[in-house]
Amino acid sequence: MQIPFDNSYARLPARFYARIDPTPVAEPRLVRINRGLAETLGLDPDALASQDGVAALAGNAVPRGAEPLAQAYAGHQFGHFVPQLGDGRACLLGEVIGGDGQRRDIQLKGSGPTPFSRNGDGRAAVGPALREYLISEAMAALGIPTTRSLAAVTTGEKVYRETILPGAVLTRVAASHIRVGTFQYFAARGDEEAVRLLADHAIARHYPAAEGSYRRFLDAVIAAQADLVAQWLLVGFIHGVMNTDNCAISGETIDYGPCAFMDAYDPATVFSSIDHAGRYAYGNQGRIVLWNLARLAETLMAQLPGGEAEARDALGAFPARFQEAYFGGLRRKIGLGSEVRQGDDDLAQDLLRLMAEHRADFTLTFRRLADAAAGDATMLRGMFGDGGGIDAWQARWQARLAGRDPASVVVALKAANPLFIPRNHLVEAALKAAVEAQDYGPFEELLGVISRPFHDDAGPERFTLPAREEERVLQTFCGT
Ligand code: AMP
Ligand code: MG
Repeated sequence: MQIPFDNSYARLPARFYARIDPTPVAEPRLVRINRGLAETLGLDPDALASQDGVAALAGNAVPRGAEPLAQAYAGHQFGHFVPQLGDGRACLLGEVIGGDGQRRDIQLKGSGPTPFSRNGDGRAAVGPALREYLISEAMAALGIPTTRSLAAVTTGEKVYRETILPGAVLTRVAASHIRVGTFQYFAARGDEEAVRLLADHAIARHYPAAEGSYRRFLDAVIAAQADLVAQWLLVGFIHGVMNTDNCAISGETIDYGPCAFMDAYDPATVFSSIDHAGRYAYGNQGRIVLWNLARLAETLMAQLPGGEAEARDALGAFPARFQEAYFGGLRRKIGLGSEVRQGDDDLAQDLLRLMAEHRADFTLTFRRLADAAAGDATMLRGMFGDGGGIDAWQARWQARLAGRDPASVVVALKAANPLFIPRNHLVEAALKAAVEAQDYGPFEELLGVISRPFHDDAGPERFTLPAREEERVLQTFCGT
């Protein structure tokens, strides 16, 4: 296996990580290689799929040039600070610079215990690994910053959770795995030198324009996270565990656990079985990411010339940035052009209000605006029980669109509103077939469909529909 590693994180001081080797597994078997991503990384997909490649992806062989390590980090979990978390079941093999000039981490997840495992077994079950594969690739296809999935292998070993499950290793690719919690790890120890080194490293990798200014770095992370979470809201995504250790400095979506897309629009939607208080409910995500960013700002306070006041000032930019990203996205979702008029945001919000009232499907309602713009509002009206509310809304909307070429409005609407998302019941069915019958057909089919989310012909109609009553998934699980 030839992988041209260039491991900048491994060149940081030893206290940033623990050197480890992945723990070999009994019987590695390839489930899937992400060939397109492999090529972006400058890797040969056939080599990855070969016996040697699969051995590397399973952790049974360490490719030349890899410097495997488990990263140290801390984090606030559901508001409670844990001074040491770290990679308890992941192993950073190293970094590669792709054909696009981008440096990316290649990490094995589920690769065995590390000094950070606490009581965990260091392993991952096949269901959660394939779930992360599907949803991270769906997010990428939706154009939302995210870690990616390069490969999934099964291990031939069992993992013990509430039940006994087949094990898997997911190969995750990320701009980096530096988290808000990585900064917290050092700040909590009073290790200001490490905070500066980490910030310098993150600036060089993610925000080169901020070089020489921790304030500009903080501003850049705040902006990236504001934009990211706004994009989640615009596709109905609920991360589910927005702990500070699951919040990436790069601005990518990271750590897909009990995440889910909502069907019916309801801002209070929660799927995660462990989120009893709804801390990470759909509609709380903007507030919560700001809370996480405040924890990041605290770790940088000592590096800012203006101290706490400057940190507060930086955080003060969040609401406007977030609102602009969110309302800008909503305006695109209802087909408005770049010109903003008085009342546009009310128009969008009134649609959301109607959707909430009628429990209309989030994804389909927006997509059916395209049919309405093309002259057929039947399906849109059907989302609202043919109620009068949507007719009045449509009249306002059509008036706002007056003078625009309907065909170009349809194109804009279809480009802003996906038809295919990884709906929970489809994901569950695909994982069930994989886990219970080693049948990866449904996983492959769903992956193919959600990789082309904006195309009418990406998949069969049933993939566009919300769950029927008996298919509904009410809860999702971390599976850790
Ligand atoms: P997560 O909830 O997946 O974001 O993980 C939170 C923390 O628990 C991280 O430090 C993980 O590395 C650790 N962890 C999760 N699952 C396991 C496991 N099966 N074995 C060891 N550590 C784990
Ligand atoms: Mg995590």
